[in-house]
Amino acid sequence: MSSHFIFTCKDCGAHDLRVVRHENRKSYCKEELVCFDDCGSAGELAAIKEYQRIDAYECWGPLDEDHHFTKEEEELIETFYEDENLQIVCEDCHKAADQRHWHFSEEMDDDDSEIEFYVHCDGCDREIEFGWSHPDRGGRIWPVECEDFDPWKSWPEPRFKESYAK
Ligand SMILES: [Zn+2]
Ligand SMILES: [Zn+2]
Repeated sequence: MSSHFIFTCKDCGAHDLRVVRHENRKSYCKEELVCFDDCGSAGELAAIKEYQRIDAYECWGPLDEDHHFTKEEEELIETFYEDENLQIVCEDCHKAADQRHWHFSEEMDDDDSEIEFYVHCDGCDREIEFGWSHPDRGGRIWPVECEDFDPWKSWPEPRFKESYAK
């Protein structure tokens, strides 16, 4: 092990960096209700509810000396819903129904997940700008305050593109 530090915080003197990764996983949900047996249109669609469910996950871990992020833990932070849409075909059956009568289905949408990365000083929690060694967030993570940081050799994290231009 070398005693060389890739990072020394200018505020608190800490040497450790922590990477946090946020991911919003989206799925499309559908709930369908069919008319009850005593309805004139028994068995036909009575109502349909469509919405998007978003599960916000966060995982974090240290950034090692080779600028790789090792994922240590992952947690579901919150779940929220968007684009809710309800269509009622049969008013009576919709009123009479409770949650048990609805048929639920969902479909994950992997292409539509939103991912964000953050780098923080592990000592004082200050956010630190960074880039990647390859385009499209590939390879290693290069925080701008690291000794070996070279802006010409790294690709900015999309959020920091503007300050990189300076
Ligand atoms: Zn009905
Ligand atoms: Zn610090």
